[in-house]
Amino acid sequence: MKKRFVYADNAASTPVSERVLKVMLPYLTEQFGNPSAVYGKGRESRRAVEEARKKIASCLNCHPSEIYFTSGGTESDNIALFSALKQRSDGRGHVITTAVEHKAVLEACKELQGRGFEVTYLTPDNNGRINAEQVRDAIKSDTVMVSIMTANNETGTIMPVGDIGRLCREHGIIFHTDAVQAIGKLDIDVKEQCIDMLSLSGHKINAPKGTGAVYIRTGIKCAPVIYGGGQEKGLRSGTENVPGIAALGEAVSAVCEEWEKRSEYVKMLSEKLAAGLEALGGKLNGDREKRLCGTVSMTFDGFESETILLMLDMRGICASGGSACSSGSGVISHVLKAMGLTDSEAKGTLRFTLSEENTLEDVDYITEAMGDILARLIKLREI
Ligand code: PLP
Repeated sequence: MKKRFVYADNAASTPVSERVLKVMLPYLTEQFGNPSAVYGKGRESRRAVEEARKKIASCLNCHPSEIYFTSGGTESDNIALFSALKQRSDGRGHVITTAVEHKAVLEACKELQGRGFEVTYLTPDNNGRINAEQVRDAIKSDTVMVSIMTANNETGTIMPVGDIGRLCREHGIIFHTDAVQAIGKLDIDVKEQCIDMLSLSGHKINAPKGTGAVYIRTGIKCAPVIYGGGQEKGLRSGTENVPGIAALGEAVSAVCEEWEKRSEYVKMLSEKLAAGLEALGGKLNGDREKRLCGTVSMTFDGFESETILLMLDMRGICASGGSACSSGSGVISHVLKAMGLTDSEAKGTLRFTLSEENTLEDVDYITEAMGDILARLIKLREI
């Protein structure tokens, strides 16, 4: 098997695309003005920021004034969750979320609990899905916010965001969704889906790391996370990251224009990969149908994903595991655990996330490499 480089970890990060880089570059060099400055160079930067805001608003179907630029998904989630503190005069209340959210939401919830909030963590079914009925059953008289991700980062499972949004709207509860993994893969319409707040991140959609935005519906009270010069209507002070913002706007436009075509192709690749890995004894995690097009989370029970990842790396393949073991913490994935996987199954779980940059040859290469690796590991066990 001839060695090649295959990047199959697009849920972790993506390269900046040429289209995005082209839009971003001038703001790193000649168009460097501070967007708050009154002279021409400043106004050019301001124009770039507002243009990006319009592009994102047009993709999400909201007003540009409802888009706030942040440093990424984590900050957007924090802004959204901490706005719970602002909803009642006593600064208390109840928040509903799920056990499978990203740590950016879960840790913010933990902090809210420390400040006297009650938080309900809904348990998903075996496919990692939550339904609107579970949310309805968890609503209390003091529920101020529901935060449920659009699609999961580990399994790709898609949540019924529209149903949950409409339910929250009926009850006058704020609905936040972390769409970091979903943007560019699903049709998102904040009006249609009754979404009040939405987080997104640039580096998952071919913009640079450290870029992101949060949509906040007009009228929702929010607390600033950074105090200072009053940028982003006082919510997030600090001179705007103009190159990053221009890049994010272009990246969102690109995925918005191309997501359907891209998704069809990526789905074909990931279905082939899933079938190949299942033929090797893998068990697919997440909802088979309601799943992001590029995500293949596969359990090889009895194997250590950490070992497999290193062996894949030696063959030029980038993927990730179902636990944080590879980062040395030895922590089992809270997502897989909440879905009912045993520790052994979670430890044997790999996540491949494909993009439109991948090819059928990449899929064959991964499948073949996995076949070799599993055979070698089985042989080593017998020694
Ligand atoms: N939310 C989800 C679902 C994610 O997958 C990630 C990153 O992996 C984040 C939030 C955090 O985004 P960022 O890396 O931009 O802070």
